Amino acid sequence: MMDAMTPQNRPPRPVRTVTVLRTENVSPLMVRVIFAGDALAEIGDLAYTDHYVKLKFGDVTRTYTIRWFDRDAQEMAIDFVVHGDEGIAGPWAASAKPGDEVSFVGPGGGWAPSPDADVHLLVGDESALPAIAAALDVLPADARAEVFVEVASAAEHQPLAGGDNVAVRWIHRDERAMGYGEALTYAVQTADFPAGRVEAFVHGNADMIKPLRHYLFNEREVPRDQVSISGYWRTGLNEDGWQSSKREFVEQMEAEQDGGVRV
Ligand SMILES: Cc1cc2nc3c(=O)[nH]c(=O)nc-3n(C[C@H](O)[C@H](O)[C@H](O)COP(=O)(O)OP(=O)(O)OC[C@H]3O[C@@H](n4cnc5c(N)ncnc54)[C@H](O)[C@@H]3O)c2cc1C
Repeated sequence: MMDAMTPQNRPPRPVRTVTVLRTENVSPLMVRVIFAGDALAEIGDLAYTDHYVKLKFGDVTRTYTIRWFDRDAQEMAIDFVVHGDEGIAGPWAASAKPGDEVSFVGPGGGWAPSPDADVHLLVGDESALPAIAAALDVLPADARAEVFVEVASAAEHQPLAGGDNVAVRWIHRDERAMGYGEALTYAVQTADFPAGRVEAFVHGNADMIKPLRHYLFNEREVPRDQVSISGYWRTGLNEDGWQSSKREFVEQMEAEQDGGVRV
């Protein structure tokens, strides 16, 4: 009899190495790094729009969305937020140049816009903008989407795909004395809530996740299987700090909002 697969006996996931082919400035604080390499031929079907890889910088791992993947050209693009001198991945991307190498594990992922939705509610800060843009890329021309994106300023707008039924609201942090995600949360909570079957993708700074989760589940009573919501990063914590405290954060949030009942 074969042993059941557990995290302990699962074979290690392959680490692949790719090379920077070129970089593009998507906006002043967003740099696109396009990677190439034979290792990309080993990547299977990418059925989701939130596919991410774990980039390895020495012993440190950083998680990034695949913005687009071109199988014919064997290229993979990742959009990095340039958030200052702190950290590993942001500064690395800001100075990346052709020929630089990076290794990664993955991709993982699990969400794509559902054809059952009447309205796609896509909400995020700039760290989730690559996943939101990837979702908009695959929506049918007549799909209805309400999109809320928080960025540093109007200079951070970027072209997004979508037909006449896609409404994009950009929220600019420099116009409000608020923390990451606060103005975004307010914008979502005060907008008209769409009628019909709403399916939501809500990601970004952890501090906006609590109020938006409460809003969607408790106030708007959106069924849980119609919502993908989680924090991608947290102010004041690096990725290691956020990932190691995320479980506690989620448990506390669920206890507060679900009365301790796991649903
Ligand atoms: C599934 C998933 C997909 C993601 N996709 C993307 C993506 O496509 N593009 C992207 O840019 N990010 C993405 N992120 C977020 C990214 O992993 C984090 O922002 C990560 O912390 C960046 O690593 P770093 O080495 O630059 O900074 P860290 O060393 O992790 O942090 C250093 C400092 O910078 C702060 N910081 C981290 N991120 C930001 C930010 N965005 N803005 C302002 N301050 C920040 C931290 O709070 C900390 O104080 C994703 C996260 C997840 C979980």
